Amino acid sequence: MESHATTCNLRCELQLLFDIINMETTTDDEHRHYMRIALAEARKSPPKPTNFCVGACLVTPSQTNKPSSKAPLITGYTLECAGNTHAEQCCFIKLSSHYNCTEDTLGEHLPDGTALYTTMEPCNKRSVGNMSCVERILGLKKQHGTQAIAKVYVGAAEPETFVGVNEGRRRLEEAGVRVVHVPGMEEEILAVATTGHEKGGNALNC
Ligand SMILES: [Zn+2]
Repeated sequence: MESHATTCNLRCELQLLFDIINMETTTDDEHRHYMRIALAEARKSPPKPTNFCVGACLVTPSQTNKPSSKAPLITGYTLECAGNTHAEQCCFIKLSSHYNCTEDTLGEHLPDGTALYTTMEPCNKRSVGNMSCVERILGLKKQHGTQAIAKVYVGAAEPETFVGVNEGRRRLEEAGVRVVHVPGMEEEILAVATTGHEKGGNALNC
């Protein structure tokens, strides 16, 4: 009996350990908190018929684990930085400047477990000369070559107005980046995103 009980205890302990390792440390409320921050950023984006007004932020585990401080590492919105810049791109530009590095080496500076929250699925294709946000995310590598951003939380899928079907999600997941939908804010996100768009208009630039 005793050895059976010991085996059970060991099994329970192993299961507990397994659960802890696999536990999502960020709760649904926290995901919504960061998605709201991203949406507040999106509202700052200047309305333009050729862009979606998108907001984004980067979040590290050290921030989510501190109940008193739930500020993101960095925020960004469409056209915040000079040029035809996207929200995710602005996060990377601002953070590269903060770490005094280039966007190419930014991944090495990002804390482990950094996640990206973006109101809209990152773009996979842009007009000539502009690197897509999917490529930018995939380009961020840790020193040992793994993806620096392993999780991307999206509030809504990109409408197919500008570039057709967005295959970005598939590309990210194939590279080992988890794409997770944070539900419940799609309507608001899309209303903000299409501010400045003519109803029924067909904008071509992105
Ligand atoms: Zn983009």
